[in-house]
Amino acid sequence: MKLFLNDCKNMRKYIVAGNWKMNTTVPEGVELAKAVLAASAAVPADVKLIVATPFTHLCPVAAVVGGTRIGLSAENCADKEKGAYTGEVSAAMLASAGCQYTILGHSERRQYYGETDEKLVEKTRLALANGLDVILCVGENLEEREAGRHFAVCESQIKNVLYNFTAEDMKHIIVAYEPVWAIGTGKTATAEQAEEIHAFIRKTIAEKFGEQVADDTTILYGGSCKPSNAKELFAQKDIDGGLIGGAALKADDFIGIALSF
Ligand code: PEP
Repeated sequence: MKLFLNDCKNMRKYIVAGNWKMNTTVPEGVELAKAVLAASAAVPADVKLIVATPFTHLCPVAAVVGGTRIGLSAENCADKEKGAYTGEVSAAMLASAGCQYTILGHSERRQYYGETDEKLVEKTRLALANGLDVILCVGENLEEREAGRHFAVCESQIKNVLYNFTAEDMKHIIVAYEPVWAIGTGKTATAEQAEEIHAFIRKTIAEKFGEQVADDTTILYGGSCKPSNAKELFAQKDIDGGLIGGAALKADDFIGIALSF
């Protein structure tokens, strides 16, 4: 098992995080959180479990998972501190709702809501300032992959956002590599394809922050990850867990993935 093979020279955490996206009503979300919590006893204590829910679900889900091993994440936060920004939710609000994490830069937000790297710098800054850990998503789309630009795309997303922060900040930043062509499509990157990008992302982090920070950074894979393919992905040296979309909506599948280390 990977956990016991870790030689403890790094502080990297093994994480399985569920991104519920815009799914479930509040009562359905509360039931899902309860089911995840009930099933989580089977998962080794070293694996951190996180659920990322819609804003409306955060407080009621916090009442279920607060004080348990399950972390609570938002799926996004505002790039402004507070004020006249109708419809936005600030990092301070998320922290006060019981969140410990927020996802930022998910490809759906980059694609449909004009999320730029510049905005992500602001969002990350505000999240960290309010005590939230950030799950920063990067990844190439199909056209970029087919043009052989996947390394360049991930490199620029990492540099444009993370290079604005410090080694201390990096203790609170998790990276999720999510090839856009694999999200919700049923197409998973092969373990080799994922590992080569994960290793590259770690190298890009090392160039700015040094080897130790890079070794300590948790890098998750996301994109049609399920119980049947998680084991092979998680066995890779630089893959420290998963950011899970569709399969996070069924407690058994989500926990099945978490049992794959
Ligand atoms: C995601 O959107 O973060 C994701 C990984 O989705 P899926 O697992 O459904 O591909």
